[in-house]
Amino acid sequence: MKLSHQINSLYLFHLLSRKTLSTSASTSTSPSLSSVALFWDLKSIPPTSTYRRLSLYDISVRLRLAAASFGHLLSPSLAFSSPSHRISPSPPLQPPFRCRLCGRAFPSHQTLTHHFTSVHSPEHERRLQRLGSATGRRLCILSGQLSLNLSRYEKAYRELFGRCENAIDEVKRAGFRVLVGGDKTVHLCRELENQQRVKFAVIVSDDLEFVRVLIKMRRKGVKSVVIGELKGDNGIKRHGDVGFCWREVLGGKVKEEGPKVVARWREKELLERLEWRYDPRQDDKEELLSTENTGEEKAKGKPWWKLDNGFSNQEC
Ligand SMILES: [Zn+2]
Repeated sequence: MKLSHQINSLYLFHLLSRKTLSTSASTSTSPSLSSVALFWDLKSIPPTSTYRRLSLYDISVRLRLAAASFGHLLSPSLAFSSPSHRISPSPPLQPPFRCRLCGRAFPSHQTLTHHFTSVHSPEHERRLQRLGSATGRRLCILSGQLSLNLSRYEKAYRELFGRCENAIDEVKRAGFRVLVGGDKTVHLCRELENQQRVKFAVIVSDDLEFVRVLIKMRRKGVKSVVIGELKGDNGIKRHGDVGFCWREVLGGKVKEEGPKVVARWREKELLERLEWRYDPRQDDKEELLSTENTGEEKAKGKPWWKLDNGFSNQEC
């Protein structure tokens, strides 16, 4: 395959994924834009049964999309890995090697690659040429007609050729900044301090070390979304404002639930602001005012409900 074509395809996919992220954020954050910080402890990855068919890149992208449903996702997101921790790379493709575009099965990876480049890649180039030559209204109609095919091709291409051997590289490619070594809770606190507008934080971890950070966040009014697998006392989900598991992230449930959760939090905040609270200082002020009034009336020598003599004379 030509190098220029590869670059073109990857660039187009990059644009598409950026567009998806920004659209998702803009629809979910109205009316006021709240920033969301995403912190991923790479020790916490989906169980093998959940992500057997997904590459680490796909997992990272779905995680970012899920976090973007809570508001404007800060970019790049932070991921943490310790030097001793080894993340298993994407699971290798297993036979039968099936083409994701036409469904045909092939005996080896090479034959599948050959089929893809000789059949589907020329089709994709023709679609791009048609788009490139169209203008105005014709371009709008063509974009609508071809967008599904283009995105399907990009996804299949990425799965076949875009795999990295290094797991960290796949996470970086999906828009994460990976920090290796140091104290992960300190990294998270520093990130929250540097980003003043952060209103929500999505933390992916099962490590109980984060509990104290969650308590601190609650004091500062930052809402927390915790993603992890462990339940009860073993995990940290119960310490967050809301918790999800990996299956819900990868299946798209979090993406749907995010805007609803934010709406509920906003309603609660509004009700708390409107709630009447007893303020003893206000009571003291009122007492002082009433005392002043009584003093004036005493000076006039009659109670407040008696009319002036002048007024009563005019009336008579
Ligand atoms: Zn095919």
